[in-house]
Amino acid sequence: MTDSAETTLPSYEEQDSPQNRVLLNPKTRRIRWTLNGPLETAITLARDRFFDPDEVPEPYHQGHAFAQAPLTKPKVSSLKLYVETLDDWDHLWMEIHRDHTDPNATYDPANVVYGPLPGVDEAELRGGKHLLVCCGLKRPWGRKTQLVVKATGNFVTIHDFISTVHPYLMARRGDIIETMNLDPGRTRKPFGRKTKLMVTWQCAKGVEIWDEADWRAYHTRNKPKLPLSSLNLPPALVNAMRLEAQRKRERPRSKTLEELWGSDDE
Ligand SMILES: [Zn+2]
Repeated sequence: MTDSAETTLPSYEEQDSPQNRVLLNPKTRRIRWTLNGPLETAITLARDRFFDPDEVPEPYHQGHAFAQAPLTKPKVSSLKLYVETLDDWDHLWMEIHRDHTDPNATYDPANVVYGPLPGVDEAELRGGKHLLVCCGLKRPWGRKTQLVVKATGNFVTIHDFISTVHPYLMARRGDIIETMNLDPGRTRKPFGRKTKLMVTWQCAKGVEIWDEADWRAYHTRNKPKLPLSSLNLPPALVNAMRLEAQRKRERPRSKTLEELWGSDDE
């Protein structure tokens, strides 16, 4: 492809389809991305995606050849970021609060507010009322991920992605922690401001946020797989985790990361 052709590259959204997925550069498997401070100290390069307590990862910097590699295959001019943790916020919040204001439930009306939701088609409503505040807490409506990553050169590079997404995630760190505390699939709650966080790719345009302890446990090689039933968790939690897992499986984007990575051509 010539330079002039690359200046008119389509976006991720224009190129991605179930038949022709936009794939994530497999090099990103080496990126160890922490979400606890400024970009300058957040990123290192490990051998692979697995956690090895004895490994000292390489420093990462913008001038690294790696940083200027295309993020995706095919290359894209821009992409709309997807962060599952933030995009699930409203759903998880409603899962917790919807029953609080059930007509048969008793609640303190002073702590509950109903009203119109911006951007909702009233025709699609059942009952016509929206929960806006419950338990004195404002519903996180309209707080999904809103960020477009644009190429600084001809195409979006690994560094374009990281350097745009990292400050955004840092600015929304409080929101992320709040959502993590609502997620029945996370067992180490409650998370606080000081919880150490990690970022991993979930697809070429999307990332997932982990608490560091969970990330390490999941990324340790040959970890034993324990059935949920052996963990001695409360049945309600196990049920909620199964439902959550099923909901995620049913999503169109719920491919495994391996399927979304391109082949490693090095
Ligand atoms: Zn409530």
